Amino acid sequence: MKTTGLWLIVLLTMLFPRTVRAEMDFDTRVFRPPAPAGPPVRVDAPPAVRQGQVSLVTIHDPAPGGEVSAWYGKKPISLIEGDRSMIGLLPADVLASPGPRTLRIAWTDGQGLHRRDFLVPVETKDYGSRSINVDSAIFSMGPGGKKKAQEDERLIAAALARKTPERYWRGPFSRPAAGRTTSGFGVRTRVNGKWRDFPHEGLDYRGAVGDPVRATADGVVALTSDYYYTGNAIYLDHGEGLISCYFHLSRIQVKEGDWVKKGQVIGRIGSTGVSTASHLHYGLHLDGAWIDPGAFHRLVETLESGKASAGMEPVGKEEATGGLMPGKDR
Ligand SMILES: [Zn+2]
Repeated sequence: MKTTGLWLIVLLTMLFPRTVRAEMDFDTRVFRPPAPAGPPVRVDAPPAVRQGQVSLVTIHDPAPGGEVSAWYGKKPISLIEGDRSMIGLLPADVLASPGPRTLRIAWTDGQGLHRRDFLVPVETKDYGSRSINVDSAIFSMGPGGKKKAQEDERLIAAALARKTPERYWRGPFSRPAAGRTTSGFGVRTRVNGKWRDFPHEGLDYRGAVGDPVRATADGVVALTSDYYYTGNAIYLDHGEGLISCYFHLSRIQVKEGDWVKKGQVIGRIGSTGVSTASHLHYGLHLDGAWIDPGAFHRLVETLESGKASAGMEPVGKEEATGGLMPGKDR
């Protein structure tokens, strides 16, 4: 009878493993059913990204608790958590080669890892051009300048390459200076009859020496520099690959590692570096790309619609202030 009773237990265990094992106080976690796949993820990819601009991709209804990542070309892009969605920022450098580029979205749910690829080409954008004549002496680097310039370039490249995993900025961005904008982003310039290698990689604000320069968003001071092209310069890291730059300052009022808040005075307008008149050059660099600051500020405002706008006026018509030296002015 004893043997029969044992066989009965074995038989019951085989027939009703869950019940019997549960009764026998086994670890029931092994019986957990597979996690559900979750609703299908919908992706709204943009048709293209224009040079110097940022396009958005929206990933709807990602699985709760799942992870989402995205790459544009070979670079991981920033993702902003929205209401039951993730919004990715796709930047194209002002000098990015036009042509096909892959946007890859990857996400996890109860069934594992999924991915989808989209073709999002980079398209050209014409920002216009201008011709100016200046005293070429302002390009002079001075004795011993070349070695220092090389070291400065190395530090600047490192600051621009920062990809802090946390995002410090919350939109909308504020103005870096009170004055009106003079020289627009992306403009190609011919100086003394010769085209510069680089278009204008920022936005210029008119201002007098000593006028305050303010951080446009929360961040940490990544670098302060006195590179001969940019003059006294501040680079702020706003996290997730976004860096803002403030050039030609007369004074720098922060130091590397300082935390700054949006609207905080970080320096003073000047005319240091390659510059012919006092002004602020303001630049934005996102995941390896110089992007149009005015357009990006407006884009963030649309993302944050409903909140008070501290946005920028449209880029003004170019004025003959002689404020900015383009090209390497970045
Ligand atoms: Zn400029």
